[in-house]
Amino acid sequence: MLDVLIIGAGPVGLACALETQRKGLKVAIIEKGALVNSLVGYPTNMEFFSTPELLEIGGYPFPTAHYKPLREDALDYYQRVARDEKLDVRLHEKVLKLEGEQGNFIITTSKGEIPTRNVIVATGFYDLPNLLGVPGEDLPHVSHYYKEPYQHVLQNVVVIGAKNSSAKAALQMTRAGAKVTLIVRGPAVSDSVKYWIRPDLVNRIAEGRITAHFNTTVTAITPEAIEVLTPDGPLRVPTDFVYALTGYHPDEALLGRLGVQPDPDDEACAPLFDPATHQTTRPGLFVAGTVCGGRATSRWFIENGRHHAQLIAAHLAGQTA
Ligand SMILES: Cc1cc2nc3c(=O)[nH]c(=O)nc-3n(C[C@H](O)[C@H](O)[C@H](O)COP(=O)(O)OP(=O)(O)OC[C@H]3O[C@@H](n4cnc5c(N)ncnc54)[C@H](O)[C@@H]3O)c2cc1C
Repeated sequence: MLDVLIIGAGPVGLACALETQRKGLKVAIIEKGALVNSLVGYPTNMEFFSTPELLEIGGYPFPTAHYKPLREDALDYYQRVARDEKLDVRLHEKVLKLEGEQGNFIITTSKGEIPTRNVIVATGFYDLPNLLGVPGEDLPHVSHYYKEPYQHVLQNVVVIGAKNSSAKAALQMTRAGAKVTLIVRGPAVSDSVKYWIRPDLVNRIAEGRITAHFNTTVTAITPEAIEVLTPDGPLRVPTDFVYALTGYHPDEALLGRLGVQPDPDDEACAPLFDPATHQTTRPGLFVAGTVCGGRATSRWFIENGRHHAQLIAAHLAGQTA
């Protein structure tokens, strides 16, 4: 019988594991993919917005050669923490449902059943993209995840969206020799784009290296083109590849199966939980990290989400003392 089962080995799930383990509790993490699976899926040459000390967990220093850590630095850092703390991380095992009650829960996974006294849900939001809901979105040359520019050199690429991920992808592919067209629902590049990225994109649009269509929505995607509705009427943009970088959302069906209730007063459908302990309305079931924001995916990130671990660990240690 575990004291704590954590669902998700992202940075916050790892923080929860080491903080609860340090309180003397018997802990395991169940992760459906690789260790820090979301970070594994991020763009290959991605640079974090945060400085390294803001991504640290469990007091482990995160020294880097750069002012802002790269994806590779973070992948290395989190695997070293997991190994040094001898965390019980069970990878490529998916959590499916939760039955029972606090002190006597049964978690069903893709590999079997695991008894546990408490459960922490740290499942993030990166697995489910916000779909456009247009014909052709499921074609093989459409992706909701950007990795690197090199397969698009000397090709036409459409990027949908104008927030940080779209901005960085558009700039990177342009510099690698792709001809990028940006399709933006709003009237301008989002104000939420980081201050050191936004002018770069705005200037590339102004000089015509990137074509941008603002106040424009996508109506269909075909194998050769993307159909959009601009303020001047319908337009067909020929393209070799489409990146629909329109954000992601948590797995609400899974949260429902686990018994996490959404807050009826929150327009982002964030889970209902006690901010002092992160316990949900189901006793013994806790939420941590970005999943706490529901569809408001920039409410919690690593910088602030990692602190949920201490709150939950303190509560559980008090309860079992
Ligand atoms: C491009 C990009 C750049 C970013 N830069 C920064 C930054 O500079 N600073 C910052 O603080 N934040 C940044 N973020 C946000 C940050 O990466 C996330 O906030 C962070 O990953 C959240 O950690 P988490 O542990 O809550 O969730 P995640 O890291 O998403 O971890 C959730 C884990 O749960 C697993 N999981 C899901 N469902 C199941 C299941 N049913 N069974 C088992 N396992 C499951 C997933 O596979 C995943 O590994 C960035 C995000 C992106 C996309």
